[in-house]
Amino acid sequence: MIERGLAVRGPRSLLRQIREALAGGGPAQGRLDKVVQIIAVSMVAEVCSLYLRRASSDMELFATEGLKPEAVHVTRLKPGEGLVGEIMRLGRPINLSEAPAHPSFSYHPETGEDPYHAFLGVPLLRGGRSIGVLVVQNRTARIYEEDEVEDVQTIAMVLAEMVASGEILAAAELKDVELAPHRPERLKGMKFAEGLAIGVAVLHETPVAPEKLLADDASEEALRLARALQLLRQQIDEMLAGSHGLVGQTFEVLEAYRMFAHDRGWNRSLEEAVRSGLTAEAAVERVRSEQRARMSQARDPYLRERLHDLEDLADRLLRILAGETPGARELPEGAVLIARNLGPADLLEYDRTKLRGLLLEEGSSASHASIVARALGIPCVGRLMGLRDRVNSGDPVIVDGEIGEALLRPRTDMIEAVQARAAVRDQRRAEFDRLRDTPAFTRDGTKITLLMNAGLAVDMENLEVTGAEGIGLFRTEFQFMVAEELPRLDAQTALYERVMEAAGDRPVTFRTLDLGGDKVLPYLQAEREDNPALGWRAVRMGLDRPALLRMQLRALIAAAKGRELRVMFPLVATVEEFRAARALVDKEIAWAQRRGRPIPAKVRVGVMIETPALIWHLDALLPMTDFISVGTNDLMQYLFAADRGNPRVSDRYDLLSPPALRALKTIGDACADTGTPVSVCGEMAGRPLEAFALVSLGFTRLSMPPAGVGPVKAMVLSLDGGAARRGFTSVLKSAAGSVRNEIETLARKLNVAV
Ligand code: PEP
Ligand code: MG
Repeated sequence: MIERGLAVRGPRSLLRQIREALAGGGPAQGRLDKVVQIIAVSMVAEVCSLYLRRASSDMELFATEGLKPEAVHVTRLKPGEGLVGEIMRLGRPINLSEAPAHPSFSYHPETGEDPYHAFLGVPLLRGGRSIGVLVVQNRTARIYEEDEVEDVQTIAMVLAEMVASGEILAAAELKDVELAPHRPERLKGMKFAEGLAIGVAVLHETPVAPEKLLADDASEEALRLARALQLLRQQIDEMLAGSHGLVGQTFEVLEAYRMFAHDRGWNRSLEEAVRSGLTAEAAVERVRSEQRARMSQARDPYLRERLHDLEDLADRLLRILAGETPGARELPEGAVLIARNLGPADLLEYDRTKLRGLLLEEGSSASHASIVARALGIPCVGRLMGLRDRVNSGDPVIVDGEIGEALLRPRTDMIEAVQARAAVRDQRRAEFDRLRDTPAFTRDGTKITLLMNAGLAVDMENLEVTGAEGIGLFRTEFQFMVAEELPRLDAQTALYERVMEAAGDRPVTFRTLDLGGDKVLPYLQAEREDNPALGWRAVRMGLDRPALLRMQLRALIAAAKGRELRVMFPLVATVEEFRAARALVDKEIAWAQRRGRPIPAKVRVGVMIETPALIWHLDALLPMTDFISVGTNDLMQYLFAADRGNPRVSDRYDLLSPPALRALKTIGDACADTGTPVSVCGEMAGRPLEAFALVSLGFTRLSMPPAGVGPVKAMVLSLDGGAARRGFTSVLKSAAGSVRNEIETLARKLNVAV
């Protein structure tokens, strides 16, 4: 006997009936037919149909009560086709009183659905992905009540889990149903941190699919939810309690987060889901699944962020329900973390010894996660579109930080190919390790100083590992970017002291804050700019708001007591800017002296050449400066007018081209003429072929990412500098846009290891 009137009795009794029907045995199709029949009767609907997604992405009618039985396994809809396809695409319910009038309605005569007007379809969601659609239809035109929609959603969620767990259909019948992606996939992205990693996917969000869906005792469950919600609100309120010194946007973001935690709508949806018979976890999951599906549709990035906040809250709530303490995050061996993006502390919260790689759906090479990943030597690939929709927790994955792609569920041959590449990498690294303590002299006796770029205290370990002779560029803004709030004077001083201590006798060149552009701090209010790369950034910001810059210089001066302090300014475009910046250093030294504080034994103030304008004013600039460092990353982006962070244009122009090389030569020659020490500190200095070009142009100080030191040293040791210089005379005269091939040929001819 089937109980009628779901709205009155709630889905609990219905779910019990479904379970009983399934337990009855018999052929799978028969049981499925029974399930749709039970739902139709309970919902007082004339039609109830279940569509499941085939691996081909088509939606197939798997069972129906009310439509023609001949249509079962015959009616198929393409993705986006018809109302069912639309629900699938949107991942949210469609509720219509006049379905045939809807523009998406697609008529399939074999189903005989002509007489039905009212239509309610809801997606079967699993992990934010629609694996099917459950539809109820009625003859009479009407909009289904909110309660009814809620009930069908609950049934759909339970059905999704039943289908996925094989409770309804045997594995053989499901072999072609796309419950979860299972085929190998290759996703193209961008490399954020070099290296190769083979491991298993761990979703940064709490895993989906709570084990227990139905509550034994609904009122007990409501109590659990209420307690968890209260704890959640308490946690967030504590975060905002004021003792953390949060300022600006961070505070606002948390404030928004708190608003969501207190949001009545969200709370109510959760409570209603529990009232309908779900466990608290299942309720969170259901509400979250709906949000996630909606989130993927939102165009407005602001809205997407806010919905992401809601998703984060759901994670937090699930963790509270599981009794987890905040902060502790376990990982399996060989984990590859999968996330949309990661916040400042997220990556550091995981057990580093088990973390092999990182895949991000968004992010940029300057994002927190990338910076920390590089510092920790964890390969990272980002901008992988649709990543989280395509990977399940536990899937084998490969992070290819050399090419910039992710391989999901790779075949054995793919794994073997990557293993072979990793072995070559390891072997080469071992060769470079052997060169660690060999000084870098060219074959004809020129000493090339190989320095390393760094930005966090953890980077300093790499000095020992690589044998670099010092830090040619310390990017001080990294400390600011990984912090939740503005680092205070003592925190800055402490970092600089640690860095100099770790460097010992080796020189460290600190670059003052290079913020703005793509390096935005959540806690520093910045106005939106149309062209941030050409905007209010780096030293421009520092000179307009000298308090921040002076605080940093004060910290540097204090940290360098009794030692040499080397400091340089980024993105200087005019000599006046440099003069003004330098004057701030003098001011701060005088300030320390007046107070009887220890000052550095020596101060060297330099300038980065990052804007083309300075190239034609070197005669004025060089006498004012103690040294210069060429930031080729920015210099080339401005020289070629190609945004370095935009993959569509960043590789469009070759640095190994006559204009770029001539510009560099002009700088090198002017420095040689005036005896100004000069180094090159952009990424190109760390690539053997590019470094070959730089040394051939006369540069003898190169500062690079740690991974470049070994390969560049191998290049230097194999180089006859005189022959290379002569070879470059003709290369520079070339009329070609890129002289990469000519330089490669020259390197081969001279037996240079590039
Ligand atoms: C550069 O622009 O070349 C440079 C070294 O600085 P950054 O990459 O930090 O902008
Ligand atoms: Mg720069």
